[in-house]
Amino acid sequence: AIDITDLHKSFGDNEVLKGINLTVRPGEVVCIVGPSGSGKSTLLRSVNLLEEPTSGSIRIEGVDILDPEVEVDRIRTRIGMVFQQFNLFPHMSVLGNLTLAQRRVLGRSRTEAEQVARQQLDRVGLSDKVEAYPAHLSGGQQQRVAIARALAMNPDMMLFDEPTSALDPELVGEVLDVMQRLASTGMTMMVVTHEMGFAREVGDRLIFMDAGVIVEEGEPREVLSNPRHTRTQAFLSKVL
Ligand code: ATP
Ligand code: MG
Repeated sequence: AIDITDLHKSFGDNEVLKGINLTVRPGEVVCIVGPSGSGKSTLLRSVNLLEEPTSGSIRIEGVDILDPEVEVDRIRTRIGMVFQQFNLFPHMSVLGNLTLAQRRVLGRSRTEAEQVARQQLDRVGLSDKVEAYPAHLSGGQQQRVAIARALAMNPDMMLFDEPTSALDPELVGEVLDVMQRLASTGMTMMVVTHEMGFAREVGDRLIFMDAGVIVEEGEPREVLSNPRHTRTQAFLSKVL
């Protein structure tokens, strides 16, 4: 489980997270929506220690990851993250992209890393692209490679920050399908998304953030069809 308690983050005078409390249970898929600048990415990046919160706590399986004694790299290997921009290494083949961190961070042999890479590529439907370079793949294929690369590290949970926002509309579905299948295997997931259909069908919980706070949360269908707060209503009326 991920336990976030009274999390605050400021950039200078700008308080971006104003006391976030959130527990994500094992196997749960939590979707996060909200206007631009509301702090969604900052929240996700805090969980992966890409941002250092100003105060509050984040515990993962009971371990306070903000404790200076905790090894950041160990935490990061347990949490896979997928970004809007796929962030593949352009000078490496798909296989190279999938094996690099396995070998460098986990110390796997080339043979083992390649075996895991092929399994994960198979899972995202890209077995035939092992030798391809990112520039020769579509955006949807690149994002599926990025997901496979994260999964190759055998993470306990996955964070997605608008994974389909950079894609042409016709490529969104193939990435959401991969994410839906991943969710059905019981992966714990936090997903920042504008895809309300995905949030409704796949999410166990929907969180609406605005101006650094969680304004409303609940069962996705309930929040989407019957938002209680005026700020949630105003946001949903623009995106639905
Ligand atoms: P979007 O939907 O546009 O991705 P978001 O909800 O993910 O928005 P964040 O990226 O978390 O929002 O940003 C929240 C606020 O924090 C914004 O006002 C942004 O300008 C500010 N911010 C984010 N990162 C930094 C940074 N590294 N330095 C200074 N300010 C930052
Ligand atoms: Mg963002």
